[in-house]
Amino acid sequence: MKQALIYSLALLLFSFSGCNDDSNDNSDSSDNSDNNEEASSLIPISIYERVYGTTSDIYIEEDWIYINTNGVPDHQSPYFINTQWEDAMYVAYDGSNPFVTNFNLNPNRISELSISFKIPAFPEQSTGNNPTSMGPIGVSLNGIPFYNQYAGGGSPLTQEINSFDQYNGHPAPLGPGQENNASGRYHYHMEPFWLTSNEGKEALIGFLLDGFPVYGPEENGQTIDSSDLDAYHGHFTVTADFPDGMYHYHVTADDPYINGSGYYGSPGTVSE
Ligand SMILES: [Zn+2]
Ligand SMILES: [Zn+2]
Repeated sequence: MKQALIYSLALLLFSFSGCNDDSNDNSDSSDNSDNNEEASSLIPISIYERVYGTTSDIYIEEDWIYINTNGVPDHQSPYFINTQWEDAMYVAYDGSNPFVTNFNLNPNRISELSISFKIPAFPEQSTGNNPTSMGPIGVSLNGIPFYNQYAGGGSPLTQEINSFDQYNGHPAPLGPGQENNASGRYHYHMEPFWLTSNEGKEALIGFLLDGFPVYGPEENGQTIDSSDLDAYHGHFTVTADFPDGMYHYHVTADDPYINGSGYYGSPGTVSE
């Protein structure tokens, strides 16, 4: 409780210095430079830059971080069949996904998109209610969007899970009016196994749209489940990346997997 209070005060101070930045003056003697390249963020830009699946440099502009990706995974998938990447990237489902009981390849195929994530450079706890919506709710390190715990219509993922590949992702149909309805946006509703096996089970694996980081399913050698986390599916602790502590989400094997009852902070936006 005390720790949370200190954190809130720190955020308040950050917010004030953020306001000063907007005045665009040259007399500012604080550590925030007028030079855009030195624009500041609560989380060091070098940590956002761990998102490697990008189509342009990650940058800060007017208190927002911009991350652009093409939505094509850097790992193989059964959903590359009948795509331009089939020769190099197609692999059959190998039966290894522990959440899948009866694999069912859905009719959608991976397609190349242009996704722009705009997230707050000064993430802070929101007093409002900020539910997640269908579609991308965050970005993982390889540029693939995170989705929430629901299938269409707000129903649980039970049926959809059987279409997750061995890396725990699958493509969605694009919306009406978009080209090539048979193709779609690849995404993760649950732990992205490619990232947690490459980066480690305790590693930072991405960010939600409110700017707070997402970590793997373990911490200090222990597996985390939803009962260890708050209603938003996160908590404030020290991590390897944040020795002074930082609010963060965890992926867990139990529902709701990545995010609980909405964002802890105020979300940015995604455009395509
Ligand atoms: Zn889905
Ligand atoms: Zn944690």
